[in-house]
Amino acid sequence: MAASGEEIDVWHQPWIPWLDFNCFNSLMESIKPKGYTVRTLADLSIGNEWNKEVVQQIFGDLGNRITEIPRLPLNHKDKIIWTGKQNGIFSIKSAYGTDQEAHFDKKKKGIWTWIGHSDLHPRLSTFLWRVLNEALPVREKLRFLLDKDCPLCNSAEENCLHLFKNCGFAKMLWFSGKIPLLVDKIPGENVIQFTENMVTSLENSNYDRKEILTYMGCVWEQIWRSRNDLCRRGIRANLDMMKRNIEMAFQSYSTYSGKDALVDIFSDPPKNRLEEAYWQRILDGKRVICTDASWLRGEARLAAVMRMKNLESWAHKTSRTKAESALIAELKAILLALQWAWEKKWDRICVLSDCAQTIQALRAKQCPPFWKTFNVALEILDCSK
Ligand SMILES: [Zn+2]
Repeated sequence: MAASGEEIDVWHQPWIPWLDFNCFNSLMESIKPKGYTVRTLADLSIGNEWNKEVVQQIFGDLGNRITEIPRLPLNHKDKIIWTGKQNGIFSIKSAYGTDQEAHFDKKKKGIWTWIGHSDLHPRLSTFLWRVLNEALPVREKLRFLLDKDCPLCNSAEENCLHLFKNCGFAKMLWFSGKIPLLVDKIPGENVIQFTENMVTSLENSNYDRKEILTYMGCVWEQIWRSRNDLCRRGIRANLDMMKRNIEMAFQSYSTYSGKDALVDIFSDPPKNRLEEAYWQRILDGKRVICTDASWLRGEARLAAVMRMKNLESWAHKTSRTKAESALIAELKAILLALQWAWEKKWDRICVLSDCAQTIQALRAKQCPPFWKTFNVALEILDCSK
């Protein structure tokens, strides 16, 4: 991943993330005879941005896509990324995994296409994305927590697969729902496999893929909500109520079609969440900026809402941008908040996000363990100094 690009050899170091080494080499071999004098990526750049004219001249049609490859801020060094792993760090184990994965690649890609490119409601696809990437703050992930038991059943460690499939509570909900399922009969070592197998097992049913994924998202969302209600407010879930909520959510998410305008997150202001969960902890005199993002098919909508406790004043800022994943969208919303604060010269601010992994990493002044987010994350870290 390039900052200035000075340390990256254009001809020999594979710097185009979607090409494997062989494809990269053959691309370069095809260009070499034209006798260009460029040596490093810096020759294709102006600062840490792509020199569009030069890139297009050399790469033709591919140029447009290349100029969308993210660049790191200029005060950072070019980074070597192992794309086989989300955190970008090479290991022998991961190299072996990558080799094995090549066999299953087709199937694996399917699921992300289903979620990113179907007519799913953006909020639901973002939630599914978080579950499938195990990006929810379940207890297994929280290093500082000693009690790792599932809060709903107290009989196993809480991780995504347990909470959404193996927990007695989840089983009951699946079994007694609109699409009755014995989830024990659906294999899966992780949530991704479980999802793939569930969709496959229902292929010949009366439900199409959108309905199945929508239903799955509604069940999971409801489980996650009930689990949070129990953990944060001590409210025990009522199965009938949960089933009604799932039914209602399913109805409203089902009417969404990708052709509609994006249903934005602003109709449901983040201030509720802010007031309930965080408000008391916020120091007086600080501006609090709450961030959120919705994401669909590479398009993200970002929102930041600023409130100041004692002044009762508030303001908001929104933006639209491209983002490759929901996580990148969340990060871009945080960056939007920081840049906004910088513009307005607000010096004492506190930025809130509900994206747990991001917060954990940024607090430790690190990038989240997903290399595709490094460029935005570094910008955030620079901005927050
Ligand atoms: Zn459980």
